Formats: sequence, C-alpha cells, structure tokens
Amino acid sequence: FSKGNMFLADMDEMVKRAREILKKGPLPSMVDWATAFSLWPVHLMTSCCGCEIGAAWGPRFDNERYGSLPWVSPRQTNLIIVEGTVTRKMGCSVRITWEQMPYPKFAIAMGVCALDGGLFYNSYNIIRPWQVIPIDIYIPGCPPRPEAVARSIVELQRKIREEGVASGWLADGERQDLKNIIP
Ligand code: SF4
Repeated sequence: FSKGNMFLADMDEMVKRAREILKKGPLPSMVDWATAFSLWPVHLMTSCCGCEIGAAWGPRFDNERYGSLPWVSPRQTNLIIVEGTVTRKMGCSVRITWEQMPYPKFAIAMGVCALDGGLFYNSYNIIRPWQVIPIDIYIPGCPPRPEAVARSIVELQRKIREEGVASGWLADGERQDLKNIIP
C-alpha cells in the first residue's frame, strides 16, 4: 500500500516538473506543432453532414495530407467533428464521446444545423453543440463542401500553433473554455 502511495507521489512530482519545463524553451512550440499535425477526428455522424466527411478524407480531397486521419475509438482521438444536427438524445452521445477523448482535444461544428439549428431551428428536440462541448471552429453550409472541411482543419492547425492551445493546456492542466460548459 505504501509503495502505491509513493508511486502516486512520484507521479505528481513528475507531472509538476514536466509542466514547469513546458512553460519554458522551445518545447511548447514543439508540442503545438506536433499536435497540429496529428489531428485525429473521431467519426461521430450526428446527421446528414457526415456524408461529406467521407469525401473530405477520400482520395479526391485527401485531408490525410494534413496529418489527420478519422479513427473509431474516442480514446485514441483528439478532435471531434459534430456532423450536422444534434438532437437532445444525440447531445448525450456527443458529450460522452468528448469526455472519453484524452487532452488536449478540439471540436469542430459542421453545417448550419450545428450553428443555429438550421432547418430545424424551432424544433423542441434540437440542441446546439456548444451547449454540450466547447467548439473551436464552425463550418457554415448545408452541407459544407469537402474543401470547407479541409479549410477548417487548416484553421484549427493555425489556431493551435498561434495560440499555443495544446502546450497551454499541458502547462496549466485544463482548458479555460471548459469552465463555461454546463455538464
Ligand atoms: Fe443536413 Fe444541411 Fe443540417 Fe448538414 S446542415 S445536417 S446537410 S440539413
């Protein structure tokens, strides 16, 4: 038992020291650079916008050239793309998927339905994705074209590198915008 406690204490010390190192030198920019070119979206198709994801990562538009590859397990991804309309029931799945993803993680909301409800603006059963997770980039359109999806990946890479989002989270231990989300 005492050995286990010692191990935990060592881990805490290691994490503390790693964070101190991260705040200085070239390491933060390396972390941001590496994260920006390792964006792995979890494939969570909430609605019809999801059809364009296949095209965006297919051979014609080839989003893989940005270092991005859709994956099935949320535990091995760092990007969630909310692909269109989110119903109340689906909102729970979006939130659970988000919580399973390791930090640092990012979110893109795709299509006008994910912006303000779109066609279903007045429906009692539709929520906005920003009500359940923090959104980094919005893509307008119904559905957005694959080029727009590619542009959102490039914009997210720019945001991560210019604003130091990934290294900032590792240094501080949490993302500030998460505090605004009601679980
Ligand atoms: Fe479907 Fe258009 Fe809404 Fe996308 S924006 S989910 S394509 S209705």
